[in-house]
Amino acid sequence: MRHIAIIGSGPAGYYSAEAAQKKFGDDVAVDIIDRLPVPFGLIRTGVAPDHQSIKAVSRRYEKTNLGDNVRFVGNVTVGEDVSVAELQQLYDAVVLATGAPNDRKLDIPGSDLDGVIGSAAFVGWYNGHPDFKDLDPPLDGRSVAIIGNGNVALDVARILAKTESEFAGSDIVGHALDLLKASKVQKITLLGRRGPHQIAMTPKELGELGHLERARPIVDPLDFPDEGADAMLEPGMRKSVTHLRSFYERAGELLDKPVKIDFDFFAMPVEILGDGKVEKIVVERTELDKDMRSIGTGEMYELDCQMVISCIGYRTPPIEGVPYEHGRGRFANTDGRILPGLYCVGWARRGPSGTIGTNKPDGFAIVDAIAEDIGSGDRKEGRQGLDRLFESRGIETVTFRDWKKIEEAEIARARDGSPREKFTDIADMIAARD
Ligand code: NAP
Repeated sequence: MRHIAIIGSGPAGYYSAEAAQKKFGDDVAVDIIDRLPVPFGLIRTGVAPDHQSIKAVSRRYEKTNLGDNVRFVGNVTVGEDVSVAELQQLYDAVVLATGAPNDRKLDIPGSDLDGVIGSAAFVGWYNGHPDFKDLDPPLDGRSVAIIGNGNVALDVARILAKTESEFAGSDIVGHALDLLKASKVQKITLLGRRGPHQIAMTPKELGELGHLERARPIVDPLDFPDEGADAMLEPGMRKSVTHLRSFYERAGELLDKPVKIDFDFFAMPVEILGDGKVEKIVVERTELDKDMRSIGTGEMYELDCQMVISCIGYRTPPIEGVPYEHGRGRFANTDGRILPGLYCVGWARRGPSGTIGTNKPDGFAIVDAIAEDIGSGDRKEGRQGLDRLFESRGIETVTFRDWKKIEEAEIARARDGSPREKFTDIADMIAARD
């Protein structure tokens, strides 16, 4: 019997478990350990609440959990309740599937002012992550600056711009919906340090911005290269740029929508100003060098704003004793191998890139590597040893069956038309399974 522990129950964790099931059949026991009492990581607390079709992939992960050889062990913090070294003693392979939940730091003066928020916190807040339930973002100002030109920046802009009725069918948490309903935000500026051909936004997500009830995207045609240059782009990117151009072509038709989503390209934030809280952001105009990197031109301007949300990428939290690549914010690894018996997968392996689906081949590849390395296993104790350890430490875990009870309670308390009202407090989650 092979014993595998996977730390993190998001997409990378579940695809790895599925791959292990397929590869080893009954000859494997997989424990998926998570800090929260609820599974699915990024699917639950990262994917936007109005993108329910993407969230539906959790049904596939649920199937993985139906077999006896895969077990969810929730409410366990690795590093506190059990160490990676202890897990390595108990399991043939330990796989870090911890994602990249920490913000890349916005390193400019003023970034510690009240009202400067990282996307991990803002996204976690509207998605009901227990760590961010009390964020209370200042939505009483008229202007918000969003830093970054990736899909997270788009998610954040769209959530800020939507009306209550546009959240129908979503599982946005009640505390966020209430605050957004009362929002005074009229202008959302997306600051991109490079140009329209360098965005990291995918077509479907960008297209959505053109069909919002009360908000209109605004682009400046002077920021775009000649249309002929679009032919050089790869097809997905070309589609995204076509959406951007259409925002200009449709400007007249969208004019009566009061909330503006302004794409400010070639715009590099250099400082945030304010007396205790955000009042302005200072931006430097940029141009591209021959390697398509942004360089400042020295031309500065200021934008009034009462909140700044930085959406500039994420990092994997380091774990003591595990080699880490600081520059890229991920574990130091070669094709997912960190040390003998220790692996990483998904964003913890490659950094925060790609779609949910990218984690599937990643999960299958790591299981191939594990198969090569561990053969038929090394007679480790696996889950029985873990249970014994937890019993001796008085650590109470949450099972998948417990999660199904929590889920049932979340469904029962949903507002009309919403699939669920998530618990945002760990104690409430645990109480719901009892
Ligand atoms: P991302 O795609 O890496 O985009 C980060 C953006 O921040 C880039 O535009 C980058 O500009 C900019 N940036 C980085 N450092 C900066 C700085 N110091 N100052 C100003 N701008 C800076 O990251 P993300 O948006 O967080 O997304 C993470 C991953 O999740 C991506 O793979 C994304 O596609 C995925 N995702 C997908 C969906 C979806 O499919 N619906 C939704 C959300 C997220 P440069 O290009 O100039 O570096």
